[in-house]
Amino acid sequence: MHVDLRSDTVTQPTAGMREAMMRAPVGDDVYGEDPSVAALQTEVAQILGKEAALFVPSGSMANQIAMQLLVGRGEELLAEADAHVVANEVGAAAAIGGISTRTWPSDKGRLDPAIVDQYIRRRVGYHTVATRAVAVENTHNRGGGTVILPPELNRLRDIADEAGVALHLDGARIWNAHVASGVPLAELVAPFDTVSVCLSKGLGAPVGSVVASTAERVELATMLRKRMGGGMRQAGMLAAAGSYALTHHMGLLAHDHARASRLAQALEPYGVTDAGSVSTNIVQLRVPDSAEFVREAKVDGVLVSAMDAGTVRVVTHLDVDDEQMDHAVAVMSKLLA
Ligand SMILES: *Cc1c(COP(=O)(O)O)cnc(C)c1O
Repeated sequence: MHVDLRSDTVTQPTAGMREAMMRAPVGDDVYGEDPSVAALQTEVAQILGKEAALFVPSGSMANQIAMQLLVGRGEELLAEADAHVVANEVGAAAAIGGISTRTWPSDKGRLDPAIVDQYIRRRVGYHTVATRAVAVENTHNRGGGTVILPPELNRLRDIADEAGVALHLDGARIWNAHVASGVPLAELVAPFDTVSVCLSKGLGAPVGSVVASTAERVELATMLRKRMGGGMRQAGMLAAAGSYALTHHMGLLAHDHARASRLAQALEPYGVTDAGSVSTNIVQLRVPDSAEFVREAKVDGVLVSAMDAGTVRVVTHLDVDDEQMDHAVAVMSKLLA
């Protein structure tokens, strides 16, 4: 049996999704003439409670466009130390946006607004530039799928208002935060000036992310997307996959969460994970040698990824069912015993 738990990006488009892609009316979206892209953008803006939204090829491009909207060249963005925007986008903030970044430490990606408050630079000094924006990741990927809830998010908004800085949300997995917590999407993203969301993670679309903000910022974002080479022509076939996923796949995330939780509970007795900290679709395992664990699990058909020398990441998704999970639990239990 083959079970790929490396990431929620490995999913295949479902039959219904392929149908929707085939049927999608399309046009040249660089001219703003693709009805399926327009429909997706309107839909995402509406469910996030933002004025407008823009379809882009990847989550990294969505984040980088949003950060360029909020932070000028040579100005500063703050982010958590393991945040995707600073740790996993190949230096794009600096290389493309000219953005200086500084990071704060966290416990598993949890947000402590008081710490962020201490890191914000309110005045330009002889040696420093002013902080223009703070980026937050929800759920937090490298933290282990950590969900951040409105009390912390709203407290951060108050601090940002007092300091005059903007807030960006890397909401690649905001859908998971919403499904796990029951908090409406619009409430989770309300404190943020810009939001990026991924359609190609747990939702299972083959390609695509969306940036949402004010209509004015989204107009500027359209220019930045073109500048970065992200203007797409008959992209409606891809957008249709995203619309399909929002309607048909969002609710299925609850199954991913249940399966991740079951795995964590089964492996907790081996002292490798804390099942109570698993609330979405990511499980982290502390093992003596992650590369060796990955290699041995693969021999039995279970693919997982090594995050660092002693941490393995297991991610549940649309293409893993209960039977495959049983196999994965059995294989990993055997390795840990
Ligand atoms: C996957 C991911 C992104 C975007 O990744 P792309 O591969 O560029 O689509 C951004 N933020 C987080 C937290 C992610 O997990």
